[in-house]
Amino acid sequence: MEPKALLEKSFAEGIALTFDDVRLRTGYAEVMPDDVSLSTKFSKNVGLKIPIVSSPMDTVTGGKLAIELAKLGGIGVIHRNLNPEEQARQVSRVKHHLNGLIERPICVYEDETIADILERKRKKGYAFHSFPVLDRAGKLVGIVTGNDFEFCDDDCKFVSNLMTQKPLIAPESTTMEQAYEIMKDRKKKALPLVDFSGKIVGMYVFTDVRRIMKDDAKFHNIDSKGRLRVGAAIGVKEDAFVRLKLLVKENVDVVVIDTAHGDSINVLDTLRAIKRAYPDLDVVVGNVSIGESVRRLIEAGADGIRVGQGPGSICTTRIIAGVGRPQLSAVYDCAKVADSYGIPICADGGLKTSGDIPIAIAAGAHCVMMGSMLAGTDETPGETVFFKGRQWKSYRGMGSISAMQENKGARERYLQEDSTGKDQLIPEGVDGLVPYKGRLSDVIFQYVGGLRHGMGYVGAASIQELREKGEFDRITDAGKTESHPHDINITKEAPNYPTSE
Ligand code: 5GP
Repeated sequence: MEPKALLEKSFAEGIALTFDDVRLRTGYAEVMPDDVSLSTKFSKNVGLKIPIVSSPMDTVTGGKLAIELAKLGGIGVIHRNLNPEEQARQVSRVKHHLNGLIERPICVYEDETIADILERKRKKGYAFHSFPVLDRAGKLVGIVTGNDFEFCDDDCKFVSNLMTQKPLIAPESTTMEQAYEIMKDRKKKALPLVDFSGKIVGMYVFTDVRRIMKDDAKFHNIDSKGRLRVGAAIGVKEDAFVRLKLLVKENVDVVVIDTAHGDSINVLDTLRAIKRAYPDLDVVVGNVSIGESVRRLIEAGADGIRVGQGPGSICTTRIIAGVGRPQLSAVYDCAKVADSYGIPICADGGLKTSGDIPIAIAAGAHCVMMGSMLAGTDETPGETVFFKGRQWKSYRGMGSISAMQENKGARERYLQEDSTGKDQLIPEGVDGLVPYKGRLSDVIFQYVGGLRHGMGYVGAASIQELREKGEFDRITDAGKTESHPHDINITKEAPNYPTSE
């Protein structure tokens, strides 16, 4: 990333800036908003189709929101105010949602009867009809599908009499796209994958794969096996390893060491230990706001950096502890260091409107993490409440008094795991309500639309180009007033401009 004139100058003067202090300059454009590419990364090996990540907060990211966000191209990070088993279950829900690759397909044996299989289907409630057939040595010898059951006039027949012998197979490394083409060409409903010894190691089913490949499935953020991507938050020391064992079993894509002060010895030691135990797992670490902290974390093995100390809408750290750095300067300082290692930056917190997304990216972020901008949607945990004539949903800081009282993870995030009573806790966040926002897909449509328009104005065809080309003007209070609608009574609420609270 080239140096940004305004941010360099303000650093030299000892001034840190944030979103509302600046706006992006326009630039010569050859690209239209609809044609820009939004693909980017959350961590070294975990890609995104839109640069939006949901925050691991208990009023924001459970399995339901993570599924919807991944379907829209982003990624959700499941919060850790849950016991490890429940958190892993939520990850599993996301990973199994699309059924791209069935990793452990239910198989039948060649010497079983059709009646045996129908009875098992009824008992276990299987809703599918394709079963690979094995011999008693466990080798794949055939396949039975819906037609075989439908046209079978004698349930006492053995599976070996009805199965298709020598079924179409593919190697273990077959991707979902390749499987789709193979099944379409050969008009087959299922495609078992086998290893070098002939053992079945997975299966694609045509109807599932077609559902994923068609329609808006091209926007889904999926792993190499066609499963939605998902992240999960972990703590430090023992908490991290208890969770990791379960999360890795459920094929979590990335974990986030979720702390308020990422540049600290427990975080660095935990990070090094995780990378030793799970070298193939991506680990995003935070939160930090200083370039030197980023260097320490990356040298200790971080695959992604979460930047933000005090910008959050529910956050009181800067007021209670007097610490933190305005977010734009924090992102820029961290990105300069991370870029020299090729590690992505996630700008976490403080975004209020869609216009803050291109600003965060132009300052150096590869993606943004949102709490309040996603809170209040249908997919977040919790019920809507009716208050002062409109609908709301609750949204609270993980360092709020209620979150800390309820959960050790929240206390640990703010280094108070051994305190319990209300009188012993020092909150760094607040509890509140945000307006009910409706469906996540509608909200994301507006955020992504705003980002696309921003990129069009700057003349940036990709996230990387926005990082390179985006230049800022510092604005004054008068400029800020001018930026918002003024001298008018707004009579109709716009879907992307909050007017009433
Ligand atoms: P928002 O998008 O609402 O502006 O900010 C969300 C971010 O604020 C989270 O991703 C997290 O980094 C941070 N955060 C969440 N809860 C708290 C809290 O109670 N105190 C502080 N200091 N930060 C919080």
